[in-house]
Amino acid sequence: MNQHDTPVPERAQDHVNASRLLDTITALAAFGGRDDGGVSRQTLTDIDLASRRYLIEQARALGCDVSTDECANLFFRRPGRSDLPPVLTGSHADTQPVGGKLDGAYGVLAGLEVIAALNDAGIETLRPIEVVAWTNEEGSRFGPGAMGSSAFVDPTRLAEYRRSIDGDGISFGTALDKALAATADVQRSPMARPMAACLELHIEQGPILEADEVPLGVVNGIQSVRWYRVECRGVMAHAGTTPMDRRSDAMATAHHIAQQLYSFAQQEASTQLRLTLGRWVVEPNSVNTIPDRVEFTVDVRCVDESVLDRFETMLNSATAAAVSAPGAVALTCFFRRAPTHFPEEMKELVQRACSRASAQAGRKQPIALTSGAFHDAMYLADHCPTGMIFVPSKGGISHNASEATAPEDLVLGVQALAYAVAALADS
Ligand SMILES: [Zn+2]
Repeated sequence: MNQHDTPVPERAQDHVNASRLLDTITALAAFGGRDDGGVSRQTLTDIDLASRRYLIEQARALGCDVSTDECANLFFRRPGRSDLPPVLTGSHADTQPVGGKLDGAYGVLAGLEVIAALNDAGIETLRPIEVVAWTNEEGSRFGPGAMGSSAFVDPTRLAEYRRSIDGDGISFGTALDKALAATADVQRSPMARPMAACLELHIEQGPILEADEVPLGVVNGIQSVRWYRVECRGVMAHAGTTPMDRRSDAMATAHHIAQQLYSFAQQEASTQLRLTLGRWVVEPNSVNTIPDRVEFTVDVRCVDESVLDRFETMLNSATAAAVSAPGAVALTCFFRRAPTHFPEEMKELVQRACSRASAQAGRKQPIALTSGAFHDAMYLADHCPTGMIFVPSKGGISHNASEATAPEDLVLGVQALAYAVAALADS
């Protein structure tokens, strides 16, 4: 068969170049690279700005037009035969204070490899394709996370984000202006512009694909999350002289509530509910003083929103029952996000793309799974048809220097992405 009789998605898939991909992953990891194999490249630091210049050069060498928006998201555009809304792919290039080489970076470099593969295959698509590197997905230097993608989808969020302050007192707005000044040669593109579709390739950051020995996962969506703050008040007193029955102990109250939350999570184990009481503030935090104030956070996640509704009812009654004096326990919900369900047609396309790549490599067929972590794709799903592809994480580990994925799995992921992006861009 003449190569031009092969469908465009298959030709794109077959032109992914493994060594070129793996070389660029190594090259980007040098920006903030650590002796232990990890990467420290927090958003909008000088290291991040240098890595952005590297990405811009790579994209220009592939013939892309580069643009940036008011949140310093970077877009690398491969023109199409028409000026229709583009197909978007990519991820983020920032890391946690200590991260690995792959979280985010893999998705951005995969997008550039798709463009290189299309170039090599001599494919011209109907729609433009844009590779994006979103600003501040991690949220470790400036909270919240996924600022770039959420501001792109809803630009009214940016004003508040600009006021976010890092540990050194620098505002996100100041860091953003510096990043934009450093890319003065790059044209500005509008936020919230129409996109035909969005596909994000990411490492799983969990253990499921590895356990099943499956190289590719079709992501159904992203689980629902709620964050609460529970603040318990008591009376500060001497640990040695105050009898147990005469105490108003904020820690005893907090502990009692926490126990009820954990037993609820245990009862709901079959629903895959995930509960984390991650941050505790104890005052005065002294070995021999009864605490008068204990505050803890609750992060609760599930694919099933009704389980979280039940959790909330239980949390409300647990905190109400714990009130021994008015105002002794205060409960605040400070973040909630409903689950994201990716559309059927995107999942079907991702399934086809993953299925062909896996079959050609003689590997197990893809499985469907739900993301336990947030991703930029969660916000893009509010903007255009969106999907995600996962590759395995060794030991399920990420946000860690030892984060790793087998090279052959990284290549398969990009092959699947190339197929799906080419299919979307040609229709
Ligand atoms: Zn990520």
